Amino acid sequence: MAIQRTLSIIKPDATRRNLTGQINARFEENDLRIVAQKRIHMTRSQAEGFYAVHAERAFFGDLCDFMCSGPVVVQVLEGENAVTANRDIMGATNPANADEGTIRKDFGESIEANSVHGSDSPENAAIEIAFFFSQTELVG
Ligand code: ADP
Ligand code: MG
Repeated sequence: MAIQRTLSIIKPDATRRNLTGQINARFEENDLRIVAQKRIHMTRSQAEGFYAVHAERAFFGDLCDFMCSGPVVVQVLEGENAVTANRDIMGATNPANADEGTIRKDFGESIEANSVHGSDSPENAAIEIAFFFSQTELVG
């Protein structure tokens, strides 16, 4: 087991419904520590840059519009196997397929407005953390 860091984003559908605290509680209850956090309103170009890996997907334009439709909370979570642990806490991409008790099952509105983002590998976590945070903003 290794201590890792992963990038999390509380998406606009969740900030709109004032769910930041309830979602953060899920992380802390599951032994993930929020070592950096800020509320931002992404620009369209930031959203396009962040999701560049999905640029060829049919949903890319709508996804970028959604991600800059309201404030988001970008955060770095730290803990044992944080990347996988967070994906388990989040649940499947489509809330309809997510396990009971996961964030997306309990709070997600649709496959797009699914309340949270989480890095899918340690390599992508490092890239995604650096996209939003400088080293001095990570306070373990
Ligand atoms: P995950 O967020 O679970 O890692 P992906 O990386 O595949 O999922 O997709 C990134 C985001 O794009 C999803 O969280 C969701 O907001 C959106 N998305 C994924 N698939 C679809 C789809 N079929 N239709 C609309 N939006 C989608
Ligand atoms: Mg993904």
